Amino acid sequence: MDIINDSVIEKKLKSIEPKKGYVFVRWGLLLLIIPIFLIVSDKPFLYVRFWFVFAFASVYNVVFSILYLKSKLAGKNFGFIFYADILLVSIFSYFLGGLQSDIYVLLFFIIAYYGTSRDVSSITKISIFTIITYCVLSLLSEGGNLAGFNFLKLAIRGMFIIFTAYGISSIIIQVKIYDEMHKREFKRARTDKLTGLANRHYFDQKLEEEALYAEYSGKPLNVLMFDIDNFKVYNDSYGHIEGDKLLSLFGNIILQSIRKTDIPVRYGGEEFIILIRDLDLEMAKNVGDRIRNQLEKENMSLENKKDSVKVTVSCGIAQFPKHSDNIKKVVEYADKALYHAKRTGKNKVVCYDEVLQLEHELEVNKAKTS
Ligand code: GH3
Ligand code: MG
Ligand code: MG
Repeated sequence: MDIINDSVIEKKLKSIEPKKGYVFVRWGLLLLIIPIFLIVSDKPFLYVRFWFVFAFASVYNVVFSILYLKSKLAGKNFGFIFYADILLVSIFSYFLGGLQSDIYVLLFFIIAYYGTSRDVSSITKISIFTIITYCVLSLLSEGGNLAGFNFLKLAIRGMFIIFTAYGISSIIIQVKIYDEMHKREFKRARTDKLTGLANRHYFDQKLEEEALYAEYSGKPLNVLMFDIDNFKVYNDSYGHIEGDKLLSLFGNIILQSIRKTDIPVRYGGEEFIILIRDLDLEMAKNVGDRIRNQLEKENMSLENKKDSVKVTVSCGIAQFPKHSDNIKKVVEYADKALYHAKRTGKNKVVCYDEVLQLEHELEVNKAKTS
């Protein structure tokens, strides 16, 4: 189970993906073709085929822009449009004199733009498509007369396309490695090594956030605080290594008993906290009791191996905002409930309500006696 929520970072990475800019750049390039064509062609306005292709490209661009800018479709795969762009540029190149035209430079731009938001295999595929399309249309632009065709020039252009694809692929690999390292580092800094749960540092960061979420969503946030009973005796009897194993086992029990939205934390040495969203107090108590029960069962099998030291766990529960609208106070109350569980026999789950009830009874008794 992934206990650390990276979704915020992932969203940020997605939002910087170059997408919308491509629509505007495309329009700019399409309009740039007109002056280029007017300059290179001797009778530009008689060249009906060119204007036909240009009109087609403009209509296509309008449809593309609408599709692309519609945010609903923004997350979908638009790869085919880049392929269509390669084809369009190659057709323009055909009309602009094949190898004589410099418009082929746009092919590098399209590959690069496409490549930055994709993987190496996609770049390889689009590059092969580009080389084939461009070469075929360059050969066709000679009108069947290939005697004077500059094959060397075409081969060099093909190589340029391969170099571009290689360069973009290298960048992508580097970025992915860096991204992966960054994610791992991010996770490591927030994870407790022994149990794999979140550590105290992450808990401190997340606590206020979770309280805010509870406040805005109007749903409660439960704080379950656990402390292993008689752990010192266990350590003293079996040694620290066995003690560590037990902590790790308890971490696993917690992970297997909770939902994806819950946050399990190793709060201190043998103290654990689970933040449970959107669950009423009675149900949260059931979760605590299930975990307590599970450790007790595991402990039976431990006892079979060696002479017995009973290892159980106690749990205190408080709820935000029911017990306080200050989340730090709620943690304090969960601790108080835990302390109460310890004092009244251990191996039990105590809700802060019970502590309040007891305090109330004490006060009533005090009032009676005085
Ligand atoms: P109680 O039932 O009242 O909680 O008693 P306890 O013995 O569990 O509590 P106490 O706080 O006296 O002892 C906690 C022990 O946990 C002391 C310490 O040696 C041990 N401990 C803390 N962190 C670790 C750890 O990372 N590994 C191991 N093996 N032991 C740890
Ligand atoms: Mg303790
Ligand atoms: Mg303890």
